[in-house]
Amino acid sequence: MYFSVKLEQKAINSNSLENKSEKIWQNLIFLYLCTAHDQLLLNSPRVEIYSKGRWLSGAMGFFVKSFSMKKLATLQVGNQLFTFDLSQPYDLSLPIRDGSENPNCYGAENPVFETIRAKNFIGSVALGGSCNYQKITLTPHGNGTHTECYGHISAEKATINTLHKDFFALAQLITLTPQPHNEDKVIFWEQIEPLLLKHLPLEALIIRTLPNELSKKTRNYNQTNPPYLDSKIGEKLAERNILHLLVDLPSVDKEIDGGKLAMHKAFWQYPHAIRHTATITELIFVENHIPDGIYLLNLQIISLETDASPSKPIIFPISQ
Ligand SMILES: [Zn+2]
Repeated sequence: MYFSVKLEQKAINSNSLENKSEKIWQNLIFLYLCTAHDQLLLNSPRVEIYSKGRWLSGAMGFFVKSFSMKKLATLQVGNQLFTFDLSQPYDLSLPIRDGSENPNCYGAENPVFETIRAKNFIGSVALGGSCNYQKITLTPHGNGTHTECYGHISAEKATINTLHKDFFALAQLITLTPQPHNEDKVIFWEQIEPLLLKHLPLEALIIRTLPNELSKKTRNYNQTNPPYLDSKIGEKLAERNILHLLVDLPSVDKEIDGGKLAMHKAFWQYPHAIRHTATITELIFVENHIPDGIYLLNLQIISLETDASPSKPIIFPISQ
């Protein structure tokens, strides 16, 4: 699938400013931009400036950043265009801290941040060292937001750093309540299907589960049989070519499932027709004020040559 990202920046409408003197000052900046724009870098982002009742175009100098900017990106997926507001990022990742103030699952030890000490050196400025220098020990699957590739369930080595190159994706965020099912709580395809915007070439699906309590950010999920996804969801998302699935649960599968990993396998179509570049991201957190809808997803990882990496999914809303 082809897509391109085009960056544009728009200055705020100067007519909306309440303070008149500030408005005059900004109009002066605008005029300076207009007269000076030929001398500015031609490769800098295009900027459109509203001044004296009309839009002016020009290149952007560094001084333009001194006032409030709206930064827009237009994404082309297939033959459809979407414009997103890059100045409104929503970070879906959880911070990873030293110690127990993190979510935890699958018996992972807490992350450890250790100050490195050598003969004549201590890696702490607070303790008299010349710089801060720490060793960090963590477990990607068990300590927080992480993105994994099919290497998580394969005997052959497959690494997230090699396979994940699709850093921007058209994503839909939906919110669901896991349904009681025997002793479990499960999300079913029948809940997702009616919410999916089928006319859009979606590449990623983000699921926020209810209740969406702040305690999820530091929850110990061990032996709690958390909610999970029915494996039919994996089949259906693969059919629709949705490559990235993001959830706020510790796993898309049941905590103790006898090693079946049915949802992981269905999503990656493993082993019969592996979707090599598909990813699953677990332990995200979507704040309650972020509305369901369409977003530009930027999914970044650490360049680790292993099956999973701590990750930083950021979403940007459609421009209003
Ligand atoms: Zn995982």
